[in-house]
Amino acid sequence: MSVYGQNHFTWNGTLRDLHGSYTGFCTGRGRPSMTATLSSSSGLEVLLSTLQNVGDVESTLNILSVLDELLSADRRIGMKAEEAGAVLLTLNLLKHNGQHARRTAACLWVIQVFCSSVSTANLIGENHGLDVIYRLIPQYTTKHLHAIKAAINAFSALLCTKANVCSAVSKEYISGFLWLYEDWHSKDNQDVAIAIRHALLCCLLKATDSTAGRQAFLSQGGIRLLYQTAQTCLLSKNLECLVEPSVQLMRKCLPRIPLPVTSDQSAYSFLLPGTPAFTDVSETPDESSDESDAEEAEDNHEANNRDYDDDLETDLNKLRLPPDPDRPKELLTQYSCFCPELSHDFQELDLSSETGDSSTASSSSDDEVVLLNKDRTKTTASRDSSTSDGSYSEMEISSRDMPAAAHLEACDFHSHSSILGTSPGFRTMVRGAMGEASPCQREDEQDNEEDGTEEFYHHTIIDRLLERHGAGIPHHDPKLYCAVASKTKSIPDFSILAFPDFWGHLPPPGHQPMAPRKPNIQRQKVFEDIQRFLKTDDIINHVVFDLEDSNLQCHSDSLRFFSKFESGNLRKAVQVRRYEYDLILNPDVNSSQHTQWFYFEVSNMAADVPYRFNVINCEKSNSQFNYGMQPVLYSVKEALEGRPHWISTGTEICYFRNNFCPAQGRRRTTFYTLTFTITFKHSEDVCYLAYHYPYTYSALMAHLKILQKSVDPAKVFFKQQTLCSTLAGNSCPIVTITACPVSRRWKDLHQMRNRPYIVLTSRVHPGESNASWVMKGTLEFLCSNDLVAQSLREAFVFKIIPMLNPDGVINGTNRCDLNSKDLNRQWSKPDPLLSPTIYHTKGFLYYLNIIGRTPVVFCDYHGHSRKKNVFLYGCSIKETLWQSGSAVDTVGLKEDPGYRTIPKTLDRIAPTFSFNSCNFLVEKSRSATARVVVWREMGVLRSYTLENTYNGCNQGIYKGLQTGTQEHQEMGMKFCHSLLSVTKDTRILYSRKLINHIDLDHNMLDHKSHNCFEDDEPPCAEEIEYSGGCPTLKGSDLDSDIDSNMAHVDDDDKEHSAQKHQQDSISQSQQSSIKNHLFPPQTAIR
Ligand SMILES: [Zn+2]
Repeated sequence: MSVYGQNHFTWNGTLRDLHGSYTGFCTGRGRPSMTATLSSSSGLEVLLSTLQNVGDVESTLNILSVLDELLSADRRIGMKAEEAGAVLLTLNLLKHNGQHARRTAACLWVIQVFCSSVSTANLIGENHGLDVIYRLIPQYTTKHLHAIKAAINAFSALLCTKANVCSAVSKEYISGFLWLYEDWHSKDNQDVAIAIRHALLCCLLKATDSTAGRQAFLSQGGIRLLYQTAQTCLLSKNLECLVEPSVQLMRKCLPRIPLPVTSDQSAYSFLLPGTPAFTDVSETPDESSDESDAEEAEDNHEANNRDYDDDLETDLNKLRLPPDPDRPKELLTQYSCFCPELSHDFQELDLSSETGDSSTASSSSDDEVVLLNKDRTKTTASRDSSTSDGSYSEMEISSRDMPAAAHLEACDFHSHSSILGTSPGFRTMVRGAMGEASPCQREDEQDNEEDGTEEFYHHTIIDRLLERHGAGIPHHDPKLYCAVASKTKSIPDFSILAFPDFWGHLPPPGHQPMAPRKPNIQRQKVFEDIQRFLKTDDIINHVVFDLEDSNLQCHSDSLRFFSKFESGNLRKAVQVRRYEYDLILNPDVNSSQHTQWFYFEVSNMAADVPYRFNVINCEKSNSQFNYGMQPVLYSVKEALEGRPHWISTGTEICYFRNNFCPAQGRRRTTFYTLTFTITFKHSEDVCYLAYHYPYTYSALMAHLKILQKSVDPAKVFFKQQTLCSTLAGNSCPIVTITACPVSRRWKDLHQMRNRPYIVLTSRVHPGESNASWVMKGTLEFLCSNDLVAQSLREAFVFKIIPMLNPDGVINGTNRCDLNSKDLNRQWSKPDPLLSPTIYHTKGFLYYLNIIGRTPVVFCDYHGHSRKKNVFLYGCSIKETLWQSGSAVDTVGLKEDPGYRTIPKTLDRIAPTFSFNSCNFLVEKSRSATARVVVWREMGVLRSYTLENTYNGCNQGIYKGLQTGTQEHQEMGMKFCHSLLSVTKDTRILYSRKLINHIDLDHNMLDHKSHNCFEDDEPPCAEEIEYSGGCPTLKGSDLDSDIDSNMAHVDDDDKEHSAQKHQQDSISQSQQSSIKNHLFPPQTAIR
């Protein structure tokens, strides 16, 4: 409505005009001077009786304007007016003064104000107010426009109640208004009545708040009419203001279309232990499944918008006292095996010092498997590791029980035979390579075995391709990847590798700026979508890919899709128009929701043609795709030409609410469309598209093997063990990294065994692949020869669980594990059978706790889909109580402010990090997250969630750039750097050299001054969310939703005391640990 701000029709402007001519009633400021006396009912009565008896027009106007001012100022006076009979009096006045435009207008204004009360609006409706007012809205005219507008606004105001909307619909006023709008639109050639036309649209918007209203709008051809009128409005800048409400109306009234899938349930289901048969274990369906009403949607919105502060934990006991342990102490001894550094005798150190041969040091090369949950008893099995000739395959092949379906399927082979113009499909070759056994083994030992001529042929082609085009990507080995991936267990028994995962990739040269948003792009895309209903001759609607139907035939000229590979999750693709595809994502396993992440293959494209892709079942209500984020694309042809890059790409990107609904309508879900346009560089290419840089479980396992081989076992104690087996039978690795003692002398062993612990975890949410890239950076850095890395290894023992949700990652889920639970909400009481990785990670932390080795830092790496930059969430009692406005007196409350040291340090040294986005509040809704549980139950002061953007930064040296794998990895390294800040008590780390080493690493002196203090996104040029039907946020979404609306006491004093405090506390704890642990502590509980 702001468009009328300067317009002389303005409500306030008119009133002021009126007051201006009757100064007797007004003060100098234009406010009525009688307010005080008239605030009482009696004063009002006096005014009303005057109104009733007054004869001349001007006096009536005068009184009405005062009445209006009074009512606007105080809603209760509106109620009193009703009691005093003013409502019906005004309505009567209106009935009898139809010919006096100014008097009519004055009455209408007052009526509009009356309608702020629902009962008053109903009263007017019951007394034929709608009919009286509707009759005052004529066909196109140039006279009395302000009175006409007042009538439309008054009618609109009456539609604030359900009863009046029903009445308006049943009296066919919707078609009346459509007709009026068309009339005014077609005749207002001089654009003198834009305000009237706008008011008519607003009235229609109100009238379509009910299902019946929307149906009437639809059946009266409202969509076509508004589409056509909006197109002509687009041609004139003056009429811009009419386009937006038109689009809003059309979107609101478009029929809800069920997703074109047979079931809302995931295509992948998994039989959970202890479950008799597959049942829908996801959220119970919404009972109120009658079609959505905008009113209800708004209610939800309001309920959801309740004060965030309500979520803060204010129960001092819950903030300070740990709850009872979730398991008996006896169960914790099994975790002693995950502290091999405490028992290892380092005999090889003597050997190596004598012979100089470090390769015999076995501590870091054997691949011990400890399956805590195998058959519910602890079993230890060591794999044969005697062959250390560098051949990965021999280590890997050992006892592989291959998935039964990992064989070639003829149909698939043929359908891809033309890919890349080489005779056999490349993808099939890759699959061949991971066939029944390792490719290397086949070549080395089974050259003569000819049963699989085809497969063998593929192997040799792969070898040749690798030889000729191999990218030589650091920390990546395609053959190793194949071998590792062949052991990965997936629900659909994946037998194909996605090329980028197999081949590997390098960051593209240079930084990638955020994509500029095209003006009005959302409007344009919505118009294109609405056209599907109006102009159907170019609509194809042909299913070209269906995860559940591999025999699907598609047109020879349509794109081909595929996603049956690790982390892939495209469920269905529908060709809508010649160059436009609707894509439907597979919900999380055993669930019908959580769609957001995507990863799929596309082929059979023509070069230089813009293809529009619409991912139509996204669930988050907003996305960084509206703020410069792009999807990533990998081209096989480009890779073979020496450019193996995931590139941020796509134009015309936007993310908006659509009118799809679940296929079975069981849940009231609002879906969102992510639309983007891709122009492929090559024809007949095979490309991969993803939400963000994929990082598979197999990639992690291969990476760990490479890291293990990369370290000098005489210096770096690197040990990978299996924490537990996942639901699907994959191993969840836990890695120990620390420095080997300098010698076997007691002093050196003692120093090593008394190093404080740091526990890092990641990827509990499978869709957050950025977290894995950050973790990759951390792991590589900790294994490197960097001076800081060496110091950190000498100062700490790192325990890293780099993927808390392997099964989710493998099966392409976005949020959950196979039991359709968000694992980061299971930490309070993790189920040993259903959430084994959380149960055992927590068990291990308990173990460290009871042996007196509580970690000094715990951090869980995540991705954040709605914010830029990287930031930490931590836990502070005081900040939580302050923020919640709790009455608890915090003066006597002692809290070590050391939790701020790491974020403060990161703000200084990490280019992507922003302290301003951090917060340290303990929310009730997060009470079962890793951060809060580890803080509360284990007493870890520095317990964090590290949130990494999917998009990029709006501050610092990367401002305006998208964050790629390189920046993610750098963040992982910088996080390690920041850990130096908690080792200030350790003399060796006080060294200036090290501090300089970090600071000089990046020229970041300016970094801080560029910090952006905006808490949230700046407003988009185009409004992203339309009113009505803002979706309810599910609890599981909250992780990425919290606003960092904290009130920090952020002065230097606090900072100083924080550091001093923390130094004191660390050196105290160190002293006590030295006292308590003269001997390896695990002996105490054995
Ligand atoms: Zn997360």
